[in-house]
Order: sequence, then structure tokens, then C-alpha cells
Amino acid sequence: MERILTTDYVFHRDFTKEYPIISYGKGIYLYDKNGKSYIDACSGAVAANLGHGIEEIAQAIADQAKKAAFVHTMRFETDILHLLSEKIGKLAPEGLNRVYFTTGGSEANESAIKLARQYHKDSGKEGKHVVIGRWQSYHGNTFGSLSAGGDIKRRQPYTPNLLPFQHIYSPNCRHCPYNREKGDCEQHRDWSCVQDFERLILQIGPENISAFIAEPITGSQLGAVAPPQDYFKEIREICDRYDILLILDEVMTGFGRTGKHFALEHFGITPDIITFGKGVSAGYAPLAGMIASDKIIDSLIQHSQGKFIHGYTYSGHPVSVAAGLSALRIYERENIVENAKVMGSYLLHKLLELKEKYPFIADVRGEGLLIGIELLKSIQPSAAFPVNYKISERLNELAMELGAVIYPGSGSIDGVAGDHFIISPPLNISKDEIDELIIILDHSLKLLIQELK
Ligand code: PLP
Repeated sequence: MERILTTDYVFHRDFTKEYPIISYGKGIYLYDKNGKSYIDACSGAVAANLGHGIEEIAQAIADQAKKAAFVHTMRFETDILHLLSEKIGKLAPEGLNRVYFTTGGSEANESAIKLARQYHKDSGKEGKHVVIGRWQSYHGNTFGSLSAGGDIKRRQPYTPNLLPFQHIYSPNCRHCPYNREKGDCEQHRDWSCVQDFERLILQIGPENISAFIAEPITGSQLGAVAPPQDYFKEIREICDRYDILLILDEVMTGFGRTGKHFALEHFGITPDIITFGKGVSAGYAPLAGMIASDKIIDSLIQHSQGKFIHGYTYSGHPVSVAAGLSALRIYERENIVENAKVMGSYLLHKLLELKEKYPFIADVRGEGLLIGIELLKSIQPSAAFPVNYKISERLNELAMELGAVIYPGSGSIDGVAGDHFIISPPLNISKDEIDELIIILDHSLKLLIQELK
């Protein structure tokens, strides 16, 4: 039963909902005030990638807070800023070495959009300012990132405020917006969504376009949908042809989530800017940022006296950076990326078993521990559940009652993709813990199917 809360001082995210109050977390579990446990099967918002209650990270945060909680990067730096930048730079592809920090992924994408603009302006290409993004993608909630993204629901109320950025369709081969059969584009090597990219560039004029931004694997909007293998190679070629910078948004996929350090490694491409967030600090403190190519940095040094005309109070915040450095040390020491790969294929296998049991599970897909499950009312012919069913939200409610939290998502630009949810547990999850999660999911799906009868 929904209720409107009017009795406290919190500006709730949704005033119709009552949220359990969490007292503490340990490993993959969160515990509320009443002692009830929840498996954090989505790592919060795909951020708590090492689970909860890690003393070592808490200690690193406390130590830094005691030493120097805040220094402004306009005047000072810290050793840990250099150490963390080096670690991240070394994980990125060759030619991307300079790391810029923000507090969240939206800010990271804002920064990347501005850096791309400054790069072109510096190169004398004054007209280049338009960003091309994709429908069914998410890059954040600030105006620049929202304008670049293609989340219709979040964009709609603010349409008059949005920047005039342009969009193409995301490759979503199970529900191809061009009605092509899955695999057809690969076979004929003529990707309709890539052709549309070039068509749009020519329509707007390449002299006006600054950057193309995309998630390597589409997270919240489509539910862990990877593009065809060569899609990004084609995109890269077109970007190069028209001097458009390629920004890959690895905010959700970076730092081992897909069984690689960055998801771009699945496709063998090198962007001009990578944005990251979430997993970099495993959610222990707000931290995000971007990695810029040497080409961009060289231009900045040559043409702008080395100055990026941008900056936040909390860029490179020492406490967040300490959390990030500590988290990355754990990723390395405990071979977390490999665990994400191995446990990811085990989890995928278990979820595919559930697909056999429940007729409304239309698809299970993903890489590493970023797995999407698509729910359809009818698979043949393909039909989504009515929007007002909020089917994946309902599944999450049932799962939470039984002690697990998942990441629900719904709809798409034309309503074709229906509903989905993401399972993205902490990357250090064990096989036994996955089995425990599967029991809860199975039970929740059983209750859902009973409700639908
Ligand atoms: N980009 C992607 C791919 C995301 O998934 C998100 C958040 O979910 C963001 C950007 C925005 O990050 P933040 O919420 O930290 O601003």
C-alpha cells in the first residue's frame, strides 16, 4: 500500500515509498534497524563493488581525514592523488594517461563534454560543440549529461532546459529499431545504427560536432545489453573520419564490473576520453572522473597554457581519493576482476536455469557480474507487460520482502524492450552466496507468477 510520508524532514527520493533504515552492512549483506538482512544483489547502484563493512577502506578514510581532510586542487595536491591517478592511468588503454577527478559520474560526463569542446576550440574548430549520444542510454542527471543521455522519462520534464544534443538508436539487436534480424548486420557488415550515425553527422555537419558519447555495455536503460562485437570499431572509424572525439562512459562498467578492468577491452577499441565512477571507490566515498588521451592533454598544454577551464571544489577530495586508492589495492590483491569473470559466468548459468522455469523471462545476458534479465508478457509474438504493472519494480518489492535487493528498470523509447532488472552483486561474491541469492530470486519469481495469474 503506497502512502505519502509527511512526518519527517527528509526530502525523500520518492515520497510515496517507505524505505527500510539500514544500520550496517557486512560483505554482500545490508542489515536494517530491525535486524532484517538484504543481499545487496545490485551493489546499491552498481557501486558497492566490494560489498560492505571493509575495515581497511574505513581505516584509510579515517587516516586521511585526520591527516588532511581537504585540500583544494587549485592550490595543493596530495601524494595519494598521484598514486591513485597512476594506478588508474595504468589500467587504461595506451595513450590515455591523465586522470581528472570529480565526485560523481554525472560530473565526470559534464567534464568530458567540456574538455571535448575546449579541445576543438583550441584546435581552431570553433563550430564543434554538438554532442551525439544514444537513445536508451544514461549519462547522469545534470543538464549536460542529461542532454547527452537518452532516458526519456528523466529528460521529459526538463525538455526546455536541455542542450540541443542529438541522438541515434543504441544497438539493441533483440528489439532492433530497424527490424533487422539479430546477426544480420554482422553478416553483411552494414550496421543500420552505425549508418544512421554517419547520416546524422552529415546532416548536422561534422564541423559542428564535438563528441560521441556511449556506454560500452548499456546499463540501466536496457539492462546490460552489449553491442555487436565490431560496432565500436565502426563507430571509432567514423569518429576519426570526422574528427569527433569518442567518449566512453564506463561509470557503471569500469573497475572490473564486466570481468575486465574496463568494458572497452571486450571490443578492442581506444576512446579519447573514458569517464568512470561508482566502482573506483567501491562506493565507500563519492569519487568519479575521467581519463583523457595524450592527444587532448598535449593540445591543452600547447593552446590553452595548460589550463582546463573547469573545476569543482571537491575534485580530487583527499578522503575520497584515499577510499579509491584503498579499494583499488584490494581489487588488485584479491584478484577481484578475475572473480567477477568466474562468478559472472556461474551466476549467468544459474539465471539461465531460472529462465527455463519462468515463461516471462525473455532473456538473460551480460558480461561478468553485470547481468540483465528481460521480462516480457509474451515472447512469441514479443509483447511487453503494461507499463502500469511496473513489473520489475514489483519483483524488487517481493525480493526485498524475502531479503534481496535487485536493480529494476523498465521500458524503452518505443516500449519495445519491456521491463528488465539488473543483477550486479559485489564483485567478491562467492559461489555459495550466489546460490543463496538464486533461492531468493526463484522464490520471488514464483510469487510474481502467482500474482499474474
Ligand atoms: N553514467 C552511467 C553509465 C551511469 O550508470 C550513471 C549512474 O547510474 C551515471 C553516468 C551518473 O553517475 P552519478 O549518479 O554518480 O552522477
